[in-house]
Amino acid sequence: MFSYFNPVDLRFGENVVSNVDFTLYGKKAFIVTGRSGSAKKNNAIKDLLGVLDAKGISYEFFSEVEENPSFETVDRGAELFRTKYCDFAVGIGGGSPMDVAKAISAGAKMEKKVADLYAIKDSISCYPVIEMTTTSGTGSEVTQYSVLTSPNDKKLGLRTNKLFPTVAIVDPRYTLTMPADVTISTGLDALSQLVESVISKISTPLTDTIAVKGIELIKMSLPEVVKKASSLEHRSNVSMAATFSGLTISQTGTTIVHALGYPITSHLGIRHGLANMLTLCQIVKNTQKFDPERVKVATAPFGSANGLCEFIDSIYPRPKLKLSEKDAEIFAGEIDLKAGQVLNTPGNYDFGFVKEIYRSL
Ligand code: NAP
Repeated sequence: MFSYFNPVDLRFGENVVSNVDFTLYGKKAFIVTGRSGSAKKNNAIKDLLGVLDAKGISYEFFSEVEENPSFETVDRGAELFRTKYCDFAVGIGGGSPMDVAKAISAGAKMEKKVADLYAIKDSISCYPVIEMTTTSGTGSEVTQYSVLTSPNDKKLGLRTNKLFPTVAIVDPRYTLTMPADVTISTGLDALSQLVESVISKISTPLTDTIAVKGIELIKMSLPEVVKKASSLEHRSNVSMAATFSGLTISQTGTTIVHALGYPITSHLGIRHGLANMLTLCQIVKNTQKFDPERVKVATAPFGSANGLCEFIDSIYPRPKLKLSEKDAEIFAGEIDLKAGQVLNTPGNYDFGFVKEIYRSL
């Protein structure tokens, strides 16, 4: 017995934005983008404005989203959304602007600070959100999560079915402008999510099928786009894998790999997808002791768990962190061992085990 719930209207392919009827969502859009202007360079804004202008829909820009976006950014955006009387949000970018667009839609509708939404998450309501992804990694365009950084520098996932975007636009052409470092960190984030989804205790036959296809696409095409950034065929495959990773984690969530990665990103500034790579192999190998069948399914495209680790090293030679005893303790202290991410990972994870993982990095 299993269930599958994902209500996102997904559009995948070249120029799919022109097929979306934005008039269904209102008369004024609130367009959320990152700070460094990538949404202009990759033409996503131009394509969107072409469609909005043709339909007489007006818009307001909020182009202030940083990487690992803060509560404060969401609150500023929600305030602007309200004072400019917008009807729906459009997030353009990677996970950061897309997650902020979701949180703004909730903060503006509820007239609350985002920090106050966590306690009431399942009873919130939101304005419609259309996500246009321009990286190929997080799958945020089809998930019910918004990952934000609190004032004390902790990454906190706001998770509720109310946050599922209304429409997801995945046009692989927008990823052509990604520099190699972003291509690698986001592509490996997708790989991590796909593998984690398979090893999760709550994986299903359907999520397995989607995830294994995604893992095969990453294996085939991520090395190709690292070598040749302009290959649209391989970019499309990695974009598809990333969206598949969102579809699977929208059902299974992630595992302790993600939980371990957050302190690495917050304290050391190592990008999310790369932070996950530092512990994925260890967790997969530990899972082998408790549920070898899950690991067999997840690593089949690479032949074995070692094959998976060799693939990762061929794309991202993992650095040694050499954390001090004290830092390992601080990082380990930040892991909520009762969180679903940890409980859904096969094996037993206590403070000592987690600290040892950090010490070994
Ligand atoms: P990101 O933080 O959104 O963006 C990283 C950098 O890449 C930014 O400088 C961005 O520029 C740039 N960029 C984006 N698209 C580009 C393009 N097409 N060409 C050139 N540069 C481009 O990266 P991300 O890895 O996609 O997102 C990471 C965030 O997502 C983390 O906060 C993570 O925790 C979260 N996440 C969320 C979910 C979920 O389900 N909600 C899942 C996994 C991860 P701009 O400043 O112009 O945007």
